[in-house]
Amino acid sequence: MLPFADALQRIIESAPLMASERVDLALGIGRVLAEDLMAGAALPGFDYSAMDGYAVALSAFTGAGPWSLPVRGESRAGALAAPLVPNHACRIFTGAPLPEGANAVVMQEDVTRTDDVATFVVAPPLGAHIRRRGEDLAQGALALGKGTRLTPFQIGLAAAVDRSELLVARRPRVAILCTGEELRSPGSPATPGSIPDSNGPSLAAMVAAAGAIPVLAPRTGDTLAATEAALRGALRSCDLLLTVGGVSVGEHDLVRAALANVGAELEFWKVKIRPGKPLAFGRHGETLILGLPGNPVSAQITFALFGMPLLRAMQGDRNPIPARGRARLQNALRQNPGRTGFYRAQLQGDLAIAASNQASGSAASLAHADALLILPAESTGLAAGESVELIRLADL
Ligand code: AMP
Ligand code: MG
Repeated sequence: MLPFADALQRIIESAPLMASERVDLALGIGRVLAEDLMAGAALPGFDYSAMDGYAVALSAFTGAGPWSLPVRGESRAGALAAPLVPNHACRIFTGAPLPEGANAVVMQEDVTRTDDVATFVVAPPLGAHIRRRGEDLAQGALALGKGTRLTPFQIGLAAAVDRSELLVARRPRVAILCTGEELRSPGSPATPGSIPDSNGPSLAAMVAAAGAIPVLAPRTGDTLAATEAALRGALRSCDLLLTVGGVSVGEHDLVRAALANVGAELEFWKVKIRPGKPLAFGRHGETLILGLPGNPVSAQITFALFGMPLLRAMQGDRNPIPARGRARLQNALRQNPGRTGFYRAQLQGDLAIAASNQASGSAASLAHADALLILPAESTGLAAGESVELIRLADL
């Protein structure tokens, strides 16, 4: 049985990097940059006014004030301004190019205007209210680094440096194969002993959230032949295959045998974590395989902990592993040492309230949780008030 950190590291290190593709800027959200994105031109591209007011040259402010300067010309956003006439003021608006010869802008609130003369009580400092060419990014500077998972703000910056297309990692295709005679589609007629497949939809949602494409394979029953056939079909066109259920040691747990029969090689199949001890990891040719436990809490937490970082690493994401935070425990948390524990909790400010039902069967406590509290394998627990490490589910 592998410790948690070793299993995660081995999975991430074996992640094959997806090829890259060009996408329209608007489709770049959530994708991972496969290029260093440089500013092709300076940002901003020209000196401009940050205020509505008057562009002036400090050389016009000699002797004692107030100073009255005749107003000549106007600079508007989107147009080229004529040079400033010496000892004059030029009317200027926010975003408008600074006229040649001007070296300060006085905002209109500080100017008294009568007819064609502007009167200034205070002389402006050099460069007042001027945004300089290249002050945000110099020409050729790095705007966004390779491996960045693009946020809306980064889409904005890419547009500001004049990009209409981006080179990003191809989205991995992930086949999800759920096993179990008892499973049926949510909303379909119930038969005795049947249950809705809740892992398929949850895993598909996590796959999509990690920037990959989920493909739900037809579910399979619990015979070796059916499982093998389903595996062959699912393996045909994916970068990662998820199997769900059937990886423990019960006599109906056929997935490991079926994987071996279709030629998959497993690197390991047990990790020292709670919940979710069985986790098979292997490959079939170029395709990676994660064999998840069937129990919904175990399957979903295990995929969140290993599968999402794996999918991010496959896209070249610089930060595939979610950041950890800390909170203060409201109640004591106990565990039998031996496995790294991940416990569902709600957060209130810096207080963590562990769910009273940590049973691996409780889907509701996972759905209502804000975070997974982490107890190291050797820990026997923490007392109320102690600081506990955690992963916020929103950061997954
Ligand atoms: P298994 O690992 O196949 O022995 O399944 C363990 C438990 O998880 C059993 O109670 C299964 O009914 C349940 N289970 C397995 N797969 C799913 C699924 N896709 N959705 C909901 N429950 C499942
Ligand atoms: Mg099963």
